[in-house]
Amino acid sequence: MAVLIFFVSHWLLCVFFQSFFQHRYAAHRMYTMGPKTERVMHLLTYLVQGSSYLSPKAYAILHREHHAFSDTEKDPHSPHFFKDVARMMWHTKARYDDYAAGRGQPEARFLGGYPEWPLVDTTLRTSWFATLGWVAFYSAFYVMFATSPWQFLLLPLHFLMGPVHGAIVNWCGHKYGYRNFDSTDKSRNSLPMDFLCMGELFQNNHHKYGSSPNFAARKFELDPTWQVMRVLALLRIIHIATPQRAVWPEAREAARTGGAARAA
Ligand SMILES: [Zn+2]
Ligand SMILES: [Zn+2]
Repeated sequence: MAVLIFFVSHWLLCVFFQSFFQHRYAAHRMYTMGPKTERVMHLLTYLVQGSSYLSPKAYAILHREHHAFSDTEKDPHSPHFFKDVARMMWHTKARYDDYAAGRGQPEARFLGGYPEWPLVDTTLRTSWFATLGWVAFYSAFYVMFATSPWQFLLLPLHFLMGPVHGAIVNWCGHKYGYRNFDSTDKSRNSLPMDFLCMGELFQNNHHKYGSSPNFAARKFELDPTWQVMRVLALLRIIHIATPQRAVWPEAREAARTGGAARAA
């Protein structure tokens, strides 16, 4: 039971911070927060993601490329250009490593606006000592609390949680599910209530409304990360920075905008 609680908590917290900090803050600047709060969130992201912590800078550059070139040959991780998910992730990893190490040459428009903290993003992230420390910590928990040998099969997922979530979202989110909006890419909404990836699986909504901090658009859809953000905004810990909201059906919004234009 302890192992199950640990696994589910680590899974949900890791993907929450990936969506909340690396994606919606570093890549998209959907909200703002004070410099001290930003440091706390940055540190919490590292502590939760541990051995699979992703550099917010490299994540942001890669993700902005994904939006600009979605499902074309220049997309860093379109499932429509790779035979299987392993090849797609290997290609993504190489590009991510280049940007994280400052070797890659992204277009200037993809640079800037993300939080940078060399102690966490470089020193701790690349330290073998720290990484092995996290691996030892996850392993020790299993040694202490596992009640059956098969449970140890879950351990590698803790080591690689960030890339595992990336693989699920990038592969499934552009391949399986329904579409609310016609777009030139192949993005899909894989789950109507995305408790698996905390809202990241609303790829079709998100590609249509790239600045909407709520990835859900329809009444039956639920984006858990947005629900947490609403509470944080109410408590004035963060401030939502963009007025855009995902709207469905699209025609209703277009009609309203058209109506407003005619009235003016
Ligand atoms: Zn995005
Ligand atoms: Zn996408």
